[in-house]
Amino acid sequence: MGHGSDWDVHEGCEKHRENHNSVAHRTKVGRGNLLRMKPATNLLETASTVMTTAEARGTWNELAAMDLIVVTAHRSPDGDAVGSVLALTHHLREAGLNAEAVLPDRFPRNLNWLPGAEIIHFFDETPDSTTEILERADLIWCLDFNGPGRTGEMETTLVNSSAKKWVVDHHQFPEDFADHLFSDPACGSTCELVFDLIAGWGRLGLISQETAVCAYTGIMTDTGSFRFSSVSAHTHLVLSYLVGLGIDHAQIHEQTFDQRSLNQVQLEGHALSDKLHTWMDPGVAFIVLDLDTLERFNYQPGDTEGVVNRALALEGIRVAIFAKESKGGIFKISFRSVGDISVRDIAAEHFEGGGHRNAAGGIYRASSSQALIDHVESNVRNWFPNP
Ligand code: 5GP
Ligand code: MN
Repeated sequence: MGHGSDWDVHEGCEKHRENHNSVAHRTKVGRGNLLRMKPATNLLETASTVMTTAEARGTWNELAAMDLIVVTAHRSPDGDAVGSVLALTHHLREAGLNAEAVLPDRFPRNLNWLPGAEIIHFFDETPDSTTEILERADLIWCLDFNGPGRTGEMETTLVNSSAKKWVVDHHQFPEDFADHLFSDPACGSTCELVFDLIAGWGRLGLISQETAVCAYTGIMTDTGSFRFSSVSAHTHLVLSYLVGLGIDHAQIHEQTFDQRSLNQVQLEGHALSDKLHTWMDPGVAFIVLDLDTLERFNYQPGDTEGVVNRALALEGIRVAIFAKESKGGIFKISFRSVGDISVRDIAAEHFEGGGHRNAAGGIYRASSSQALIDHVESNVRNWFPNP
């Protein structure tokens, strides 16, 4: 993007120009100059190339003729899934369209405060009425997932619905199930892509506070609070636009990350002090929590979110693996890595899962947490020979 056009910071220095004609002075940005910046009028210039404006506008025109539009995301929805579903649903409803938000199951309670959280239909809680909505829909927006299997129990209903499926997603290797595919695996979040879509519709000026708050939250949670390598200059332009709308970003962080229960904090402490296994060569950390432990700390969904990143923060650790037992001898596994090490491949090949290069997930069937520890112990050097 040519910085001279959209972000013209020269004006404010005009009065100094005669005395201080150096380049440094003419381009210096202070708070006064920032206030004089023209708004970024063409955010799409730096946006993902998967979506042309013409294509985006085409989808908008089609929406007008639809009686019911559903917006959905993957099971065990995270901040990006819930945020993108709510952001898009709000925006469609505000345009006078009939839109319903549907999720396969409930999201972590630290997201309960999201504006509009109460309008979501959960497939596992109200299967009959949610099935009816999915069957009646003309269109199902599939956000933040690359294949119908990621919707768990909802998969059959989703696939069998005669509704068109339009996908907006940032996972690698999307499956062939979409009538329209807006996919950019280089993008840090689906919320950023939803924002770009709204920009492509020419509707940036119509983004409401509710949409902005939901989109900001999803970008924040999927980028580790704007720190992962997937964050781009464009991500920050989008954030700048959203913050410019007057949303309370400090409160969003606070409500999402700083309202943890004592049980939750103590479970994390226990996981790190008593349940952590490390292999400093090749730099892998592994934590497994069995059902007894989870019950001891009155585990609630979402309580262990972030534990895997604590393990990854250890000096010398390049891969962190977090496993949590669920009923029926199934362990849900989260993988995180830094740099070029792809945990997606390990998750896909050995744990019936997938995801992104640096953040992936899957499952493992084992009779006990010790069996899983033994499995990791005997394979870890093959999976990560030379990280
Ligand atoms: P988390 O560890 O936060 O549950 O998941 C991290 C990422 O891994 C998710 O954003 C998603 O892309 C991917 N992921 C997690 N679980 C699964 C799974 O069971 N299957 C697939 N294909 N991907 C998963
Ligand atoms: Mn996502």
